[in-house]
Amino acid sequence: MQKGHVVNVLDHGYLKLVDWMGTEEDIIRAARMSTGRGFERWDAGEVCKQCRVPKEEIFGSVPVPQPATESGEPCWHDWVKVPGDEKLLERLYKFNHATPFEMCVIKVEVQAPIMVFREWQRHRTWGYNEFSARYSQMPNLHYLPDLSRVQRQSKTNKQGSAEPMGEEWARNWLELVEEEQGDVYERYDWAIKEGLANELARIDTPVSRYSKMQGIVCLRNVLAFLTLRKEGGAQWEIRQFADVLGNFVQALWPRTYALWEEHTFYAKKFSRSEHEKLKSAVAALRLVMDRYTKAGYELEPSVAGAMASLDVLGFAA
Ligand SMILES: Cc1cc2nc3c(=O)[nH]c(=O)nc-3n(C[C@H](O)[C@H](O)[C@H](O)COP(=O)(O)OP(=O)(O)OC[C@H]3O[C@@H](n4cnc5c(N)ncnc54)[C@H](O)[C@@H]3O)c2cc1C
Ligand SMILES: [Zn+2]
Repeated sequence: MQKGHVVNVLDHGYLKLVDWMGTEEDIIRAARMSTGRGFERWDAGEVCKQCRVPKEEIFGSVPVPQPATESGEPCWHDWVKVPGDEKLLERLYKFNHATPFEMCVIKVEVQAPIMVFREWQRHRTWGYNEFSARYSQMPNLHYLPDLSRVQRQSKTNKQGSAEPMGEEWARNWLELVEEEQGDVYERYDWAIKEGLANELARIDTPVSRYSKMQGIVCLRNVLAFLTLRKEGGAQWEIRQFADVLGNFVQALWPRTYALWEEHTFYAKKFSRSEHEKLKSAVAALRLVMDRYTKAGYELEPSVAGAMASLDVLGFAA
């Protein structure tokens, strides 16, 4: 992914990758500060016990001179098998050794409706700089949802939307909103031309108006943002931005993104009492299985496999 890459979002918004810093090798290097060893190799293989060079780098097609050790002495390499740094990355992520992930940083530029910014800027671990409507006149850009987005209030989720309102109603409502946005902007523009201060002329700004900001955040905290804002409960509009941001993060740090999907985004967390219920359910299942096998029936391989997986997950009989 190149710096400056832009993806359009909603009717007038966009997300631009301004800059980024740090690779997944840097995450490993940061974690290894504790041992003085750096990044070695992603996959399993062999490295030298003393100088930690991967074996392939020495026995490649071109003969490579023996690298010197830190003390300046040549190293006569003593190979040891290592599981690969992919495993270390997984351990760091899985067991919340989170600070090495703060060594990577992403900076984006966002143009979005102010209502999206109100949600976005609640994420305090980002640094932000936004367009100033005290300093300059805001552009005449307002969010108008697509017809299909004009949905009824959800009955089950007080913060959610449900089925579409119907095309005719949606068209009428959108027309009214557009007219209103136009009127409000016209008065704003007129007042500024009359000489009214920008900071006062803006007092009737609708939250549908577009604003622009730059935001910077580390990998650890952009993942926390994505966990909350890509999730189905987040408002549809901010989710559109979060999805694009997620694609940026995936392109820059694919292994970490996959770990986040595996251990956070698609993972399920159980409370103590939910866990107790789950254990009781598994115990009841085992009882049925035992009776079944005692009666002389053989368990289907898939069922036997599923029971073995439950053992691994800590639900041993
Ligand atoms: C679906 C949804 C609905 C919401 N509805 C509402 C609502 O109705 N009203 C409302 O006001 N807000 C609402 N919010 C906003 C929400 O309460 C949070 O403010 C927002 O999601 C930011 O989350 P955060 O604090 O985890 O993020 P960040 O501020 O980015 O923080 C990331 C993490 O850093 C740590 N951290 C940051 N600051 C501190 C601190 N001061 N102390 C300790 N740890 C810290 C925490 O571990 C935190 O999880 C909603 C959010 C979502 C996703
Ligand atoms: Zn060596």
